[in-house]
Amino acid sequence: MPKGLRNPRLKPFGTTVFAEMSALAVKTKSVNLGQGFPDTDGPPEVARAAADAVLNGPNQYPPLPGQPDLRLAVAEHAQRFYNMAFDPDTEVLITAGATEAIAAAVFGLCDHGDEVITFEPTYDSYGANIAMAGATKRVVLLDAPNYDLDIEDLKSKVNARTQAIILNTPHNPTGKVFSADELTQIADVAIQHDLVVISDEVYEHMVFDSQHIPIASLPGMRDRTITIGSAGKSFSFTGWKVGWLTAPKPLRDAVMVAKQFLTFVNAAPFQPAVAVGLRLGDDYYNSLRDDLKAKRDFLGAGLAECGFDVLPTEGTYFLTADITNLAASANMPSTSIEFCMALPERAGVVAVPSEVFYETRAAGRSLVRFAFCKKDEVLQEAVSRVGALHR
Ligand code: PMP
Ligand code: GLN
Repeated sequence: MPKGLRNPRLKPFGTTVFAEMSALAVKTKSVNLGQGFPDTDGPPEVARAAADAVLNGPNQYPPLPGQPDLRLAVAEHAQRFYNMAFDPDTEVLITAGATEAIAAAVFGLCDHGDEVITFEPTYDSYGANIAMAGATKRVVLLDAPNYDLDIEDLKSKVNARTQAIILNTPHNPTGKVFSADELTQIADVAIQHDLVVISDEVYEHMVFDSQHIPIASLPGMRDRTITIGSAGKSFSFTGWKVGWLTAPKPLRDAVMVAKQFLTFVNAAPFQPAVAVGLRLGDDYYNSLRDDLKAKRDFLGAGLAECGFDVLPTEGTYFLTADITNLAASANMPSTSIEFCMALPERAGVVAVPSEVFYETRAAGRSLVRFAFCKKDEVLQEAVSRVGALHR
């Protein structure tokens, strides 16, 4: 093997857990509640707009910041849902999924030696992007089962090298929705220390018991926040990889410089389709939320019946369960990676070990994440399979 096989800075991120768990589901013919993707495609009118565009164009490189009408639709969406005004020409950027928006934001803002604060459990790409930038991740632990913000911990992680805070609300993998009070406390720290907040809000339309609050909408935050959205999540077309961000011009431009050397542009025929999605009526957004809420309740109750200790989930399409009691009674491994590796064989179900979202792994060792963005009969099948663990 060539000796330059791997960038040592990426070593801690050596596992591609979502892809591996999906491959395991295919191999073992398991019900896949691991990687977060819906098993039903999004609205037909959105798909039809993409099909028309593939046949009739646009199919060539879009403008670097994205097609003007999609940028306008992103700005209209922010106005409609959050009463926030963004200039579609200078304050919106279309990206290759939220994944690229996050990466370009980190690369556009962070230099070697800078520090970036994330909340742990941390969605996997944040740490990898921070490492790729040569920056250092500092984590603030959100403790199960309530995952309340420890503001003193956040304050203690800020120093002169801190460049940004990456926030994710609603939060993957916990399903936590940061409260107005918590967001205000984070905003105060950002303002006091002149930090940028990179706010990953891809699950903005999946908040079940409260309201989604963009941190950019808080006083003093608009000028220092990059807010990220995803068509994969909001319109159930995860394979299209269309995302967007809104930010004040200087921040949007800094991210765009990095973005041009990642993908330059992407998804020309999907961009007009995503504009159709963003302009769908309230019925669409309400039923996306209500359907997922019913699935959350169904899977949560089913897993609890099987012996899992199911933690509360206020948003996203994930729920977390503590495996300790079930593992003991069903003779399963009690640590999440081993548990999730055994589950396909023992029960024909795939889930994601929450341990992988933690640097301090012990904190997530008894927790497993299940995706509930699946057909009712698939969730039913998963519950009955897991129920058989005791037999
Ligand atoms: N952020 C979070 C928190 C996610 O869960 C995901 C994907 N599941 C992404 C970003 C990436 O979104 P996209 O597929 O649009 O790149
Ligand atoms: N974000 C999705 C999840 O959390 C997966 C995306 C991916 O596979 N990278 O499951």
